[in-house]
Amino acid sequence: MLIDSHCHLDMDDYADDLGAVLVRAEAAGVAQIITVGTDLASSRQALALVEKYSMLKATVGIHPHDAGNAGETDWEGLLDLVARGNGAIVGWGEIGLDYVKNHSPRHIQRRQFARQLELAAQARLPVIIHDREAHDDVLAALSASPVRQRGGIMHCFSGDWPLAKRLLNLDLYISLSGVVTFKNAAALQEVAAKVPLDRLLVETDGPFLAPHPYRGKRNEPAWVVETARHIAGIRGIPLAKLAAATTANTRTLFTM
Ligand SMILES: [Zn+2]
Repeated sequence: MLIDSHCHLDMDDYADDLGAVLVRAEAAGVAQIITVGTDLASSRQALALVEKYSMLKATVGIHPHDAGNAGETDWEGLLDLVARGNGAIVGWGEIGLDYVKNHSPRHIQRRQFARQLELAAQARLPVIIHDREAHDDVLAALSASPVRQRGGIMHCFSGDWPLAKRLLNLDLYISLSGVVTFKNAAALQEVAAKVPLDRLLVETDGPFLAPHPYRGKRNEPAWVVETARHIAGIRGIPLAKLAAATTANTRTLFTM
């Protein structure tokens, strides 16, 4: 049994066949899926999906791409969703810094990231972190924040083993996506081999980043199995053992 710890089921990519996507996930052994908010509207939509499908949990947050225009109304709206969610909202994110696309100016991304780290602590939720080419600034923000209180995860980890060690030292979890199955992912495969089994999660980040052999297609939660199988192979352990560990870690971190 597996959990897809990070997917965007509110996106238009799933508008026509979400029911079938969830049936395929269950048939593949995916027991639960966390659908992750990226702005206020998407967080609201994530909560609506949880109310409809019992295998889902949701998170709320504002992605660095959308952080530029966020303000008090958004923060209040997100806190209100957490209160109304009554346990259905299990994390705050995704939040962080994206220095590849730079949809928002970097100094504003940093300010909004710090603000959301505070809000997550206020809401007593673990954080889901997005980091693209912003490793040092992400680590600095996390070190200055109360992140240890409820913990957090580096989603779709994209660094190397030295970076993973720095995150582990902050008591964070590491989540690997389908990218680890790609041929040119040697650094990630090293991380997959070395992360302590009690710190590792798996995710699809669907609709993005479909694992081998589906690379290039719309990703979906059923395919988290391919990522888990690949990591189990790298570690030389049975898939069932990898699945049991990552499922337990997801439940511990997100209290679900
Ligand atoms: Zn995501």
